[in-house]
Formats: sequence, structure tokens, C-alpha cells
Amino acid sequence: KLPPPFNEQNLHYAKSSPERQKLESALKELRSQVPVSVPTLRNGQSIASESSQSQLSQIMPAEHASVLAKYTPATKEDVSAAIEAALKAKQEWVDMPFFDRAAIFLRAAELVSSKYRFELMAATMLGQGKNAWQAEIDAAAETADFYRFNVAGAQEIYEKQPTINAPGHAGRIDWRPLEGFVYAVSPFNFTAIGANLVSGPALLGNVVVWKPAPSAMYASHLIYKILLEAGLPPNVIQMVNGDAQMITDTVFDHPEFSGFNFTGSSDVFRSLWFKAAEGVQSKKYRDFPRMVAETSGKNFHVVHSSADISNAVKHTMRASFEYSGQKCSACSRIYLPKSRASEFLDELKQHLKETKMGDPEDFANFLGPVINKPAFDRITSVIKKAKEDSRLELIAGGSFDDSKGYYVEPAVYVTNTLDHDLFDKELFGPVLVAYVYDDAEYESVLTQLDKQGGGFALTGAVFANEPAAIRKAEDKLRYAAGNFYTNCKTTGAVIGQQTFGGGRGSGTNDKAGSSDSLKRWTSPRTLKEEF
Ligand code: GLU
Repeated sequence: KLPPPFNEQNLHYAKSSPERQKLESALKELRSQVPVSVPTLRNGQSIASESSQSQLSQIMPAEHASVLAKYTPATKEDVSAAIEAALKAKQEWVDMPFFDRAAIFLRAAELVSSKYRFELMAATMLGQGKNAWQAEIDAAAETADFYRFNVAGAQEIYEKQPTINAPGHAGRIDWRPLEGFVYAVSPFNFTAIGANLVSGPALLGNVVVWKPAPSAMYASHLIYKILLEAGLPPNVIQMVNGDAQMITDTVFDHPEFSGFNFTGSSDVFRSLWFKAAEGVQSKKYRDFPRMVAETSGKNFHVVHSSADISNAVKHTMRASFEYSGQKCSACSRIYLPKSRASEFLDELKQHLKETKMGDPEDFANFLGPVINKPAFDRITSVIKKAKEDSRLELIAGGSFDDSKGYYVEPAVYVTNTLDHDLFDKELFGPVLVAYVYDDAEYESVLTQLDKQGGGFALTGAVFANEPAAIRKAEDKLRYAAGNFYTNCKTTGAVIGQQTFGGGRGSGTNDKAGSSDSLKRWTSPRTLKEEF
């Protein structure tokens, strides 16, 4: 039996605390080295001769004139070579006893928790624009949690065997990995998600080709380095950086493509599902590839008249504006009862007034920049358009500035129409729309909000003290969210406590952080023997 999993304890970075000092020196150290170089690796070894013309840059979103990392994009030949190298590694990896595979990821969890904690956080802060707290709960805690809980989840799968046999028979399940390779594509917004998308399939004996988001390049590179240091055979996970279209085309063109582990936008997943379907139709692949995804959301808070308003405000501040709303789980629409709406909005305005935005390295700042120029343009174009929209009343924020970094002040709109794009389009930014309903219309507002949300169903929350109101929301919103919260925010699922994922347009709801999602990376064989 392997040790039971546990959640990494969060450090708090109080003034003059040892952890704050260590983080500050890690930031200083990283700044003294930028631009760092991310080598192209094959079997864990650097292969490319890096010519400066062909290099791409990961910039710092808080100061876009500064480059954090430089990397050479993979060519088509590099991607094909990565796939072949991974496939070659397969047999040895499958033959390794599960305990030894698991030990690698448990060791990696320890390295993340201790030796590399601050370096990984610094990479996440400078590269992805997170403040210390957001980097702590992601790069440090959630990464270690994913490794530890995935090990436990994999063990649970292997232990699952038939419990009865008829006399003279014996049966068992051989939890085989998929026969080909798994392709993992990770997003910029959580360093931990990349760690999870590769470790899950690998723990079950799969080999993985990994394309991290360009805006999380350096932190992802560190994740990979840490895994190698923990003892991962260098050919089992192959990292390919660069042009998403070309890499994905090359992967989806390969007959041994057996599974896709994705976190990103719904639209991308839809088009790749279609691509996979074409491969299936033309019998390109040996397998029907496993398609696993956690995608977009248009998540809601609904407040009932019996709610503790201060609690609802505090949670909305965090769900909507932490990391500038750049979480799939962020809340971007809220429904308020008329009798409590001004109390809620006044308190929210007060909080926003006291909120500081700026350099994520400054511990006083709650809000940092958004990730890059396309994100800044997308969000600010909506804010500009809203200025002319008579259906929207701007009650806080609305300004933005990209002179140094990509800063967008949180914007809150109130409207008395439900017929507005802001209730349906995912923006992935700090923009919240509030609809005020008649208290007596609670039930019908639940029905309405279930129909809204652009077809997504990732997270949602109800704030109420009356048990009947809570039950009503749970019942009426059964399919509106894969993660449903009561009197707490839509963000911040903790691995091992709240498995994560949504249905409808938000993904395949395989629940990250559970043995359910890990099982997708197996192709079980049932064996029966008669004596
Ligand atoms: N699991 C994260 C949360 O609960 C969100 C992950 C994501 O943004 O994809 O906040």
C-alpha cells in the first residue's frame, strides 16, 4: 500500500515570514537570469541548435516589454520524432511495477513542495501574471496535490478486481494503458493543470506527448524538469512547443493516437473532436481515441433574499476577480433579489474601491494583469462596447491600461434585461454582469439562468440561508453546473475534496482529481480462466 494522499498545506507569505523571503529571493534570482532559455528536448535531452531568428518569446504580462523565456518552436519533424520516441519508450514504462511509477510522482510532489516550490511559483508569477497567493494555490499546492491524489486514484483502479468467482473459475481485470500514445494540451492559467494532464495518463502506464500553452512555457518546462529529477524515464513524456495547429495536425494524423487530454476552450475542443471523428471515419486510428476535456464556462452566483449578503459579496469578489477572472471556474454572471440588491452592490463597490491592482510581485495587490494582448483586446472591446449600451449600467471599474502591462480594472454592470450577450459569452476576464429579479420570482430566475450561460455548465453557486431555497436551487439547476457550491464561491476546487469538471459545452465531465478521470487512460482487459 502506498501512503494515503494529503493536501499540501498552504503557506501564507506574511510580512517578514521565511516563506516570503524565500519567494522574494526566487523572484530576484529568476529576474537576474531572464530571458531564460527553454531548450527543445527529445528524450529529455536538448536537441535544437537555437538560432535567435527562429526563437519565440514568453513575455511577462505585467511588463510586456520584458521577455521571461525564449524557446525554439518544434518543426513537424520534431513532433513526429517526439511521437516515435514516446512509442518506443512504451514497453519499458508499462513493464515498470506500478509502485515504481507511483514513487516518481510522489517524489515529484515532494520536490514541488520543498526544493522547487519558490522557483516554480516565481515562474508562474512572472510568466502568467499571478500574485503570490494565486501562485501558491496553483503551482505549489495543486501541483503536489494532483501528483499525490493521482497516485491514490491509480492505486484504487488497479485494486478494483472481481469480488466473486464461481467454483473452478478465476477472473481478473488487467488495467492496460491505451495501446498508442496520449496527447495532452494544457492551458496558461494553471501550472498545475499541465502537471495533471500528463501525470494522470502516465501513472496508468501511458506515454504522453505534451503541448503546454506558450504563455505558460517556462513554468511547464520546470514541471517537466522536476519530473525528470524525480526519476521519470526521459522518453515517457515528450514536450513539444510551438505552433498549436501544426503540432495538433501532426498528432491527429498519427495512427497510434489513442487519447486526448485537454483543458482549453470549447471551440478548440469542438473542432478537434471533429478532426478525431474524421480520423475514426477513415479508419486512420486503431482505437476510437479517448477524448477528455475541461473547457469553457459562463458560471453563475445566484443570491436568495435569505442570504448572508456580506458572505456573498466576499465570495463574489474572489470568484469573479481573483486572477482577473481567468479561471474556467470564475463567476461572470450574478442574479440578485431586489430587496437585497443595493446592499450587495454597495458592499461590492466598497470592496472594489479598496482593491489594489498592479504588479503581481507586490504583495499588496489583489489583481494583476490579464495574460496577453489578445486577451486584453478581447476584454476591453467588450468594455468599450458596453459604454454605448443603454441596457447596461456600469457601477464599478471600466478602465484599462496596457502601457506597461495588460491591466483591466474589474468591471461590474447591472441590467434589467436577461437578453444580453454578457450572460452567454465567456470572456475570461474581470467582467461581471448582475441581473436584479423580483424576490418572488426566485424559482423562475433559476429556470432562466439554467437556459443562459451560452450552453456551458461548469460551476455555479447559490447563496441562501433558507434550506428550501438551497434545495430548490440544487433541484432546478441539476445540469447547470458540474461543480455546484452553496454559500461559497465557484472557484478553488481542492483536489481530493471537490473533483472538478462540467458537462454540456464545458467538457466531458470526467472530473479532474479523481479515479474516474484516470480510468479513461486505461483499456481494461477482462480475463477468465477455468481450472
Ligand atoms: N479547478 C479550478 C477551480 O476550481 C479551475 C480550473 C480552470 O480554470 O480550468 O477554480
